[in-house]
Amino acid sequence: MDSLLRHMVDMTGHRDHTMLDISVISAVQELAGATQTRVLAIATVCGQRFVRSRACIRAGGVACPDESMDAGSPGEPIAAFPALAHCLERHDSRAEGVNADGLRILWLPIWFGDKADTCLEITHEHGFTGESIHTISGIVSVYRNFQNLLDYSERDSLTGLLNRKTFDDQLARMLHCADTETRVPGQPERRHHVAEEKQWLAVVDVDHFKGVNDRFGHLYGDEVLILVANLLQSSFRAQDRVFRFGGEEFVVLLRSTTLENARRIIDRFRTNVETHEFPQVGRVTVSVGFTSIRVADSPVVTLGHADQALYFAKANGRNRACHYEELVAGGLLQTVATNDTAEFF
Ligand code: GH3
Ligand code: MG
Ligand code: MG
Repeated sequence: MDSLLRHMVDMTGHRDHTMLDISVISAVQELAGATQTRVLAIATVCGQRFVRSRACIRAGGVACPDESMDAGSPGEPIAAFPALAHCLERHDSRAEGVNADGLRILWLPIWFGDKADTCLEITHEHGFTGESIHTISGIVSVYRNFQNLLDYSERDSLTGLLNRKTFDDQLARMLHCADTETRVPGQPERRHHVAEEKQWLAVVDVDHFKGVNDRFGHLYGDEVLILVANLLQSSFRAQDRVFRFGGEEFVVLLRSTTLENARRIIDRFRTNVETHEFPQVGRVTVSVGFTSIRVADSPVVTLGHADQALYFAKANGRNRACHYEELVAGGLLQTVATNDTAEFF
């Protein structure tokens, strides 16, 4: 019981989802004596359900965010998890199965109304007793309530994206993770080996959005914002972070990737918007400005750089993504030392 209480205190002491995930799988792993415990994110892309591991702990290991999946992939199709798929169809509270190694697996979707976009997956050598399922279910209930509370304070109510309030915190965390990933014990400077992998910040602004409101009304405008938010979430990777900064402006933090990849991922999103048929409204486009994130720069300076590139995109035809460092190198933008808060469209 001591151990359960200790885990409960740990779980409820966190103020962000990643730490909550880590803390809940550590608790379940220990209390159930599991071989492996994962948090699975369940996403729907173009009507198809995909499953992606968000955090994982293995026997004898330490719980950590799971980045084993190919960047940009929405995850594995739900068909690879038939028992879970069946459970989600029926809105059941749990499913059990056996994996290829003969280990028992328990899936516990976290339901909010009729939606479950998170699921705990627990793998055990000998299966689960009624008592262990009872304990795990209790932890899942606390996890669910806490996720709900965190969502309420971190998310924008219209689109469900992260709100601006959480931006500085998420940026600091991303830089910290990137820094620890590039360090090897006893060899603090490994950075030059992976120099091409950087963190990126993109500012996205819907083109001529005022026209959408003027022509179709505010409700259709809101619908466009919700659909753009969905396209942002399906176009970027699970380890990236998407924010609504207000109005029709969004910010994306892209984690550890090359310029080429960042450009490809951002442009894929831009094209996804351009080719999406928005009900009634028809065609909508977005402009994007993006920049690499330098630890030495304050968030305001980084946002200002991306904003300058966005301004350039707006002034040069819209429906395009512009890269700040490239514009500066090409003499198309001046670097300006500024203390101004980022000025958005
Ligand atoms: P540009 O291509 O230069 O970005 O033009 P724009 O029309 O998108 O930009 P502008 O800044 O002139 O207009 C933004 C509009 O967004 C004005 C504002 O009424 C609208 N807006 C801001 N927040 C919301 C919202 O939550 N819902 C809706 N429907 N409209 C919003
Ligand atoms: Mg706009
Ligand atoms: Mg704007």
